[in-house]
This record gives sequence, structure tokens and C-alpha cells, in this order.
Amino acid sequence: RFDKDFGQHILKNPGISDAIVEKAFLKPTDVVVEVGPGTGNITVRALEKAKKVIAIELDPRMGAEVTKRVQGTPLAKKLEVILGDVIKMPEMPPCDALISNTPYQISSPLIFKMLSMRNPPRVAVLMFQREFAKRLVARPGDALYSRLSVNVNFWATCKHIMKVGKQNFKPPPKVESDDIQLGSARPNVAFEEFDGLLRIAFNRKNKTLRAAFSIKEVLAMCERNYKIYCSLHNIPIDESIAADDDDAATTAAMDVDMDVDDDENELGDNDDQGMDDEADEDEEMPTFFKELKDAEAAKEASKTPSRNPKSKIALVVRAKVNKVLTGTGLADKRARQCDQNDFLKLLLAFHEEGIHFS
Ligand code: SAM
Repeated sequence: RFDKDFGQHILKNPGISDAIVEKAFLKPTDVVVEVGPGTGNITVRALEKAKKVIAIELDPRMGAEVTKRVQGTPLAKKLEVILGDVIKMPEMPPCDALISNTPYQISSPLIFKMLSMRNPPRVAVLMFQREFAKRLVARPGDALYSRLSVNVNFWATCKHIMKVGKQNFKPPPKVESDDIQLGSARPNVAFEEFDGLLRIAFNRKNKTLRAAFSIKEVLAMCERNYKIYCSLHNIPIDESIAADDDDAATTAAMDVDMDVDDDENELGDNDDQGMDDEADEDEEMPTFFKELKDAEAAKEASKTPSRNPKSKIALVVRAKVNKVLTGTGLADKRARQCDQNDFLKLLLAFHEEGIHFS
């Protein structure tokens, strides 16, 4: 009996298991991690090609099944089964290739877990529900474009390999699946920094970046991180940027607040388009971003722009944020229109100003 709560849809078409392993281009020196080996259809094929397969399986019955399948064969000594939830593991075991007919409940956290690995695998071949796969390959302007799409295409090369119909599984899932190949393309940027910026931008992806960065809690975080950065690097805080232009900064701050309202009017009912496409990505959301969402929801409910008196350092940070947004030419763009290079440009400009996101 298969457990649907564990996303157990076993591949019954050997041709698909072959194709998945083939697309990983395994070498005899490779260590492979397979998430959710199930009864071992993909596992045995990977074991034939690689040095070692570490199979991470939540269901002990399946763990026993895959172990039994290779028992007494030369493949047995190449297999290590780890029983447990891959998402709860503090770190994924280092590997050259990651393979998974991914249980649909963990699609998003698994991708984020892989992208945040210090040394991500050279290649990953992952099978997802079609809707999820479409989000991975979405481009700026597409309805499904999200923080997930930017992250995946920034950290990896992302290629659609094949469509897999539901009749290839036992029991058949409700929806069709797609196989995606991800190749490592590691830019020299910290994952937490890039993703921290994306969380702010995609908190409301239909709003301008100026509006996203006008939220009180976002500015407070920038201020906190800027102070830490200055004290760690012994940099005196240059208050002249605010002192010289106190009024301008205050006016800019007010303009920014106004932009939130303009933006809401302009977008009207289309703002959320009835889609909460970030929902599953929010599962692992750090407290700050939960607070940010709650605070923004409260602000939207009251529709009262903040006009709190600003401290000197708050003005410095506001002026820096304005400078970055204007200087990059991205202030009036919305997250849904920006590609990964826009976000990288923005991140580097923030770093130039000593503003960090992790
Ligand atoms: N690889 C097999 C195949 O293609 O025939 C089985 C794939 S089945 C879609 C997903 C497998 O992942 C199941 O064996 C399930 O028990 C396991 N699984 C579900 N959630 C998991 C988790 N959080 N960590 C590790 N394994 C998980």
C-alpha cells in the first residue's frame, strides 16, 4: 500500500527511470543523493553508474524495500539509506548529483535547500508537478514568475527535459509531471543576501521596488544591518548625506509613502490577482519576514502612511536606499518585471552603500 500523504507515486515506466538517470550524466566517481527512493526504481540505475548513492527516505517501509532490493548484489555496498525527512536535515549531504522524483509536498523547500548548499551538486534532475515546473522556468512578466523563478535561474541553469504523463505512476497522481534539469552556475554572492533582497521585492511583486523599500519594517531592517556593518568594519556613519539634505530626505520619504498609495490605486483589485504564489515558499520564512508580512497587512488595512519622526541614522539609510533605487534605474520597476540581473545589480548597489540583507 502506498501512502499518499508521503507523495508516494511510484514510477512504473522503466524508460522514465532510465531517462532521469541518463540526464544526470553520472560518472563512476560521483556521489549521488536521491530524495525519496521509494521502492528503488531510480536508485538501482544510479547505483549502476555512480560510486555511491545516498538515499534519503521518510518512510521506513520504503527504506527497507530499497535496501532489500539490492541485498546480496554488488550494488549493496554502494548504497547508504538515511531514514528521515530531508527538509528537517540540518544540511544535505555533499554530492555531485541530486536526483528525485520529488514528493510534491516538498518541491519548494527542497529546491531552496539545494540552492542554499555551500557546495551545490553539479547537476540535479528533479521531477515535479507540471504547475510547479512551470514556475521554475517562468520568465519576467509571466503570471507564474516569482521569487522561486528568480532564485532558480540565478543559481542554476534550468532546463525542461521531458513531460511525464500521470499514467506512468502507480497510483497515478491527479496532475501531470515534468522533469527539470538544473546545472550549477554559482555566482559569487551569498545565497542569504540574494534571497533576502528577493523576499523584500516579492513580498508584493506587483508593487514598485520604491514601494517595497518604503515599508517601515524593511527600512528598519536596512538600518539595523547598516549599523552592524559599520561597526564590524569600523566605518564611521556618514550623517552628512542626511544632514546636508534633511528636508530632501524627508520629502523623499514622504514621496515613497505616497507611492505605496498611488501604486495601490493604480493596481486596484488586480494587486494580488487572487494568487498567493508565494504560499509554499513562505513555509520556511524567517521571523523578520513573517513580521514584515503581518505589519504590511496591518498597514494596508489602516491605509495610513507612516509619518514617524525620523532619527538621523534612519534618514541616512532612507537617503541611501533612494540613491540605490534611483541610481540603478529600478525604482519604478516591479519585481514581476525584473530579471535576475536586475536583482543582482540592485544587490551590488546596496552593498556599495553598506546595506545588507542577511
Ligand atoms: N523514487 C521513487 C520512484 O520514482 O518510483 C518514489 C517516488 S515517490 C513520488 C516520493 C518518495 O519520497 C516516497 O517514497 C516518499 O515516501 C518519499 N518522501 C516523501 N516525503 C519525503 C521527505 N520529506 N523526505 C524524504 N523522503 C520523502
